[in-house]
Amino acid sequence: MLNRSVPSFFHGKPTSERPFCADCECPMILSRLEPDKPGFDLRSYACLMCAATESISVAIDVGN
Ligand SMILES: [Zn+2]
Repeated sequence: MLNRSVPSFFHGKPTSERPFCADCECPMILSRLEPDKPGFDLRSYACLMCAATESISVAIDVGN
């Protein structure tokens, strides 16, 4: 049974969870990780099924 709940990145907290493709609802893979504005990483995800891509800016968890 697939977990179809809203991905936690919608709630704006740091997460390692992957988004789901808006088109085919498959889990997307992290394809690129690069620095964004200070304190944030820009994560680029790709769908293996339909080649859709999505970029999400996420806060870096500094652990304190
Ligand atoms: Zn897809």
